[in-house]
Amino acid sequence: MDELDILTLLENCKAIRRGHFELSSGRHSDTYVQCAAVLQYPPHAESLGRDLAAKFPGLGIGCVISPALGGVIIGQEVGRALGTRAIFVERDASGRLALRRNFRVEQGERILVIEDVWTTGGSTRETISVIESEGGLVVAAGAIIDRSGGDLNLPVRTEALLHMDVRSYDPSDCPLCRTGDAAVRPGSHFRS
Ligand SMILES: [Zn+2]
Repeated sequence: MDELDILTLLENCKAIRRGHFELSSGRHSDTYVQCAAVLQYPPHAESLGRDLAAKFPGLGIGCVISPALGGVIIGQEVGRALGTRAIFVERDASGRLALRRNFRVEQGERILVIEDVWTTGGSTRETISVIESEGGLVVAAGAIIDRSGGDLNLPVRTEALLHMDVRSYDPSDCPLCRTGDAAVRPGSHFRS
């Protein structure tokens, strides 16, 4: 699928919605992104995983690692397409991402980090740091959507299926509010 096909699929599944939204950060935006809305359909998850995996040929990946919870399903599908393990990091009691459940990486194992959406790429950056402290070698990172607008600055090669520049506004200076429409809260968690 090309970027337009991906955009159409995500819009059809309401993983990308247009309107006037209040983010969990309190800021307003005309776009709402929730990848779970498309990943709830296993055939779509599998096909997105196959397309994302195809962006990383010949890297000798030994394991796909995702930050929980958002990255787990797409990480599983990328691992399926690459024929590798797929594991995840999750928050420990101190709030830091960690490998738990007896998950391990081999010393020097070549790792691909996969997430659903990059806004700032913070979870992927933290995952890379955790994996490298465990002895893994992170060779690349991928996401379904890169909505950073080009401001990622991750320390490895990055690939995404869809690139978006999603703006957000302070409510006191929101052009959507000025049209008179009230902002809506689209879900329990908005990846702001
Ligand atoms: Zn507004």
